[in-house]
Amino acid sequence: MDELSDTVLAVSTPWGSSPRAIIRMSGPNALSCAMKIFAEEEPFHTGTPGTYHSLRGRIELEDRTAAPAVLYIMKAPRSYTREDVVEIHTFGSIPLVEMLTEKLLRDAHSAGRELRLAEPGEFTKRAFMNGRIDIVQAEAVLQIIRSRTDAELKLAAVQLGGAFSQGLRRTHERIANQLSLLEASIDFSDQQDDIDVHLISARDTTDELEAVREILLEQIRRPDNGQFHRGGVRTVFFGPPNAGKSSLFNMLLGWPRAITSHKSGTTRDALEAELIVDGITFRLLDTAGLGRIETPGNNKPALETLTTDMTTRTIGTSSLFVCVLDGSRPLEKSYAEFPQQLPLHQRPNGANCLLVINKTDLPPKFSVEDLPLPWQDFTIICTSAVTGSGIDVLKKKMAGKITGGGIDCSASPAVLNARQRILVEKCIESLEQASRSVKEGAPAELVALDVREASDHLGELLGKITTEDILEKIFSQFCIGK
Ligand code: GDP
Repeated sequence: MDELSDTVLAVSTPWGSSPRAIIRMSGPNALSCAMKIFAEEEPFHTGTPGTYHSLRGRIELEDRTAAPAVLYIMKAPRSYTREDVVEIHTFGSIPLVEMLTEKLLRDAHSAGRELRLAEPGEFTKRAFMNGRIDIVQAEAVLQIIRSRTDAELKLAAVQLGGAFSQGLRRTHERIANQLSLLEASIDFSDQQDDIDVHLISARDTTDELEAVREILLEQIRRPDNGQFHRGGVRTVFFGPPNAGKSSLFNMLLGWPRAITSHKSGTTRDALEAELIVDGITFRLLDTAGLGRIETPGNNKPALETLTTDMTTRTIGTSSLFVCVLDGSRPLEKSYAEFPQQLPLHQRPNGANCLLVINKTDLPPKFSVEDLPLPWQDFTIICTSAVTGSGIDVLKKKMAGKITGGGIDCSASPAVLNARQRILVEKCIESLEQASRSVKEGAPAELVALDVREASDHLGELLGKITTEDILEKIFSQFCIGK
């Protein structure tokens, strides 16, 4: 594609007769080219002239032909492409649109102004090149255009909002962080025998590589039935034992997926089920309780560690957190510590966590004001898994958290296209190779090589590493005018 300094033009609406057609121009000559054929009829300014405003009037064509039109003017950098953008909205008549396009190009040519037809996806490409959106968001634009169902549209819209790439960026940062630790330990390796320089242990490295790999694996996991679907937002239910997590889980699903019991610690491993709310697929994960788990038998510590590890891991790979407390029992001090038990990067906060006070059919033993400080920022929902009260509110709030866009969906399978999927797979392979090398006791240099490769693959996915070839492949899939 050509330089970005020129001005491009395209018909942005589908070709055919319609009530309205949009001709869009982007670049330094957009406004002067549009004004050449446009006559303002009546003052109709909206917005501040100079940034974002519209003008009503008519476009004048050859042979005294004129058609009513509205110009929408978006001055750089406050436009989709961050360049001057002008949209001419007029009747969707094929001969009119053809005549208008031709006149714009011809007039520009005779006035010595550069104006050419845009290539497929060129507006979105410009938005990307000018730093308005990242590559994953650019691809989400394509997915929005192509989406066929509500759910596809909603998830693509979430991607466009940047939540998905934000999550991937965080994963990328984690890999980059490991890489710098490894590289630093290469630099210090000659000193390790003399001074106590323990920058990073093999265990920490493999743990972190494994955690990142798990997150990425979620992105490429397909459902067993092979049907096309968009995965689901990993939503973990956690909290003290016996608060009613499994009961809520069953209530949400409408069928008894989880075993519930009045005895603490009935849920040992993470159960999964799918729930669709407002077209958004959630992957619900029920966990064993955090905190004190009363385990029968002799092998208590081992089993407890195992279940707590499993719960922590499930939480660590989730995007949406639902903490369930039992409203019919007095609050325990340890509740406030739950979030602190989790790794910093995956800690529930006001944006990604819902706090459910369950068992509201029983007399309450605490009120919202008694809750420890970390919980006070959270959205609080009162439910009863026995009467079903509050369940619909919980579903609505879950969907709201996703459409609100403030959630890191990196741990949730999202809409990966072929390009993204291949890069995620390559990244996982490199991470696995790195883990193997650590376990085999390979030198840090060798491990760092694989971690760098993993980082590069994700970097490419995020558009941090781009070549004209890659961009061509991505943007050529768009239609002209987008
Ligand atoms: P979990 O350990 O957090 O998964 O808790 P369970 O779902 O297994 O529930 C523990 C016990 O509390 C069971 O006996 C449930 O029947 C009971 N329970 C769960 N939710 C409610 C509720 O909303 N009201 C009442 N009264 N009992 C509940």
